[in-house]
Amino acid sequence: MMGYMSITRAGCAALDAADPISDFRDEFVLPDGIVYLLGNSLGALPRRTAARVAHAVTAEWGQDLGASWNTAGWWDLPQTTGDRIAPLIGAGPGEVLAGDSTSVTIFKALAAALALRPGRPVIVSDVENFPSDQYVVQGAAQAFDREIREIGPDADLANALGPDVAVVLLSHVNYRTGAVRNMAEVTALVQASGALMIWDLCHSTGALPVDITGADFALGCTYKYLNGGPGAPAYIYVAPRHQKAARNVISGWHGHASPFDFEPGYEPAPGVRRFAVGSPPVLSYAALNASLEIWEKVDMRSVRAKSVALTELFIELTEHLGLELATPRDPVERGSQVSYRHPDGYPVMRALIDMGVHGDFRAPDLIRFGFAPLYLRYVDVYDAANTLAEVLSKELWREPRYQRRLTVT
Ligand SMILES: *Cc1c(COP(=O)(O)O)cnc(C)c1O
Repeated sequence: MMGYMSITRAGCAALDAADPISDFRDEFVLPDGIVYLLGNSLGALPRRTAARVAHAVTAEWGQDLGASWNTAGWWDLPQTTGDRIAPLIGAGPGEVLAGDSTSVTIFKALAAALALRPGRPVIVSDVENFPSDQYVVQGAAQAFDREIREIGPDADLANALGPDVAVVLLSHVNYRTGAVRNMAEVTALVQASGALMIWDLCHSTGALPVDITGADFALGCTYKYLNGGPGAPAYIYVAPRHQKAARNVISGWHGHASPFDFEPGYEPAPGVRRFAVGSPPVLSYAALNASLEIWEKVDMRSVRAKSVALTELFIELTEHLGLELATPRDPVERGSQVSYRHPDGYPVMRALIDMGVHGDFRAPDLIRFGFAPLYLRYVDVYDAANTLAEVLSKELWREPRYQRRLTVT
């Protein structure tokens, strides 16, 4: 008998009953009738967020008005929020600053790293990186007159390195396949060549334990696994050893050493604060801080253990369906997602969503399922796998209405 046939819904319910982090599910708003496997794209809404944002609007803004820059700590939000994110990536206080979007943050990190390595013309980046990362690399190469050297996901990074390389930008977890890079090994290799290492942690933060120690710069978003809400601030990590010399290319007044002196000349603030730019989106920080209150109670090792168990269960239940697995089969090598290739992946995903299983599609042929361990149950994985089996066996995806592309896929 095939292994998957011995897995039952009751067996999955027993796993949920024994799950040490199952209580976190109560922290989230999860609509009835859907299995949400898109926490890797937009994390679910924490229950406490609405009240927290309402407080920021009605009390901090409505009543206290401009005094809130001081009394509600608005001015310091980039640092205080960064300090709360820091433990999730193995960083310490004063090493992380929250603000701007991921894309803008990539530019800030690249510009700072390039300036620290003058005379080295090359930026190494991954062809499989998230497109925005690649676009920003292209923009930075043009702005600072550097060249790009692209490597494939399995290409020998060592061959791409040399005395001409200033900086390497790579994703820790590949957004399409979920493949994980060995952070410590890659960082050491890059630094041995004299280049600086920037890690993109968008698909790592809140998905698996990260130890950023040793890297030069890192960045990530907070609206995926961290549940900060749509458009929540990104963050940048700057290694303490670079904080004196590293400059913010977007030298705005929020990164000034004494912004309220209103001096004509820019003087960078000490430490990571200099990577702030302009007025922070206070309401977005309110939402993000609500979810970080939850994350402060989370042990990332339990999250990782459950993540591995969930992805393993999903693969076991679906690998006989004849799809090509794009995600590494060895859990050590994958993040918290499972991707399959299917030539008609787009209509397959549309049919799945119609049946309540929310994943997404990434061109040309990937159907992607993200597993957010704080609110996903083993029974959800069981149900999602059965729905996928039904969509494929009955060819439900062939319905014409599933073929037309929506704006956001
Ligand atoms: C989600 C994600 C982004 C998104 O960039 P934004 O500026 O936040 O829209 C960029 N890079 C990677 C690797 C991502 O996973």
